Amino acid sequence: RAKSQQRAGHFYFSRSMGVEIRERVRMMHALRSGFQRGQLFLHYQPQVDLATNRPFGAEALLRWRLEDGRMVPPDRFIPIAEYSGLIVEIGEWVLRQACAELMRLRAAGHRDFTMSVNVSQVQFRHPHFVDMLRRALLDTGAPPDYIELEITESMAMEEPALLVEKLAQVKRTGVSIAIDDFGTGFSSLSHLQRLQVDRLKIDRTFVTEITGSARGSSIAQMVVQLGRNLGLSVIAEGVEDERQAQILRQLGCPLAQGFLYARPLSPEALLEWLAGNPMTRAA
Ligand code: C2E
Ligand code: MG
Ligand code: MG
Ligand code: MG
Repeated sequence: RAKSQQRAGHFYFSRSMGVEIRERVRMMHALRSGFQRGQLFLHYQPQVDLATNRPFGAEALLRWRLEDGRMVPPDRFIPIAEYSGLIVEIGEWVLRQACAELMRLRAAGHRDFTMSVNVSQVQFRHPHFVDMLRRALLDTGAPPDYIELEITESMAMEEPALLVEKLAQVKRTGVSIAIDDFGTGFSSLSHLQRLQVDRLKIDRTFVTEITGSARGSSIAQMVVQLGRNLGLSVIAEGVEDERQAQILRQLGCPLAQGFLYARPLSPEALLEWLAGNPMTRAA
C-alpha cells in the first residue's frame, strides 16, 4: 500500500502512518525523560547447566516502568531507543549496571558467576563502542572473562569485514561473545567460522517447537551440532518445561535459560534465588 502512495519520487504518508510516527516520537520523548528520571532498571535471568541445574550466570534484561506503574516491554521501546540513537547512552548505562551487579554478586560469594549483556546493532556499530566497553570494565572493576556480550544473528550477518574486525577488538578486551536468537537468520558455517564468537543461543521459538515432532527439534539439534563442530558453547533460551529440558539434554545441549528455572529477577530476588538453590556453589 505504501508503494502505491509513492508518486514521482514523493512519499505521501497515510493518516495511520502519521499516527504511528507521532506515537513513536511521543515514546522517544517519554523514554529520554524516563531514562533521565531513573525509570529504567535491570532484571537478571539465571542461566543453568542442563545436566546438573547448577546456575552459572545471568542475562541482564532491561525494564522500563512508567510513573503510573505500567511496564513497557523491551520489544516496544528498544526499537525506539535504536531509531533515536538513545540506545548508545542507554546501552552504556546497561553495561555499567550489569558490571556493577556482577561485582555485588562476587562480593556476596558468587565468584564463578557470569553476566550476559545484550548489545544493539546501533550501539555496536558506534565508533567508540570498544572504548566505551574498556572504560566500563575499568571503572567497575568487572573481570572481562566473566562478561559476555549478546549480539543478534541478524547483526552477525551484516558487513562481514567490519564485523570481523570489530569482534576481534571486542575479544581483545577479554569479554566473550554470544550470538542471540540463533537459528532465525541465515548464517552459513563459513561465515560463522570467520567470527570470533564463543556461544550460540538457540532462539526460543525452536525450543518451543522441540516437543512437537522430530521436525520441530531439528533446528535445535542442528545448532547443538554446529556448536560442537565449531567448538562453541550452546545455550537454549526460553526453556519452560521439563520435557523441553529433557529433549535438549538428549540432543547434547549443555546450557539453558528459561521460566522453568527462573524468570528475570530483581537483584535482591536473584540473590535469594541463588541462596535457595541447592546447586549454587558460593565460595
Ligand atoms: P533476548 O535477549 O532474546 O532475551 C530473552 C527474552 O526472552 C527476554 O524477554 C526474557 O524475559 C524472555 N524469556 C526468557 N525465558 C523465557 C521463557 O521461558 N518463556 C518466555 N515466553 N520468554 C522467556 P524480554 O526481557 O522481554 O526482552 C526481549 C528482548 O529485548 C530481548 O530478547 C533483547 O533482544 C531485548 N533487550 C532486553 N534488554 C536489552 C538491553 O539491555 N539491550 C538491548 N539492546 N536489548 C535488550
Ligand atoms: Mg539476549
Ligand atoms: Mg535471545
Ligand atoms: Mg529472543
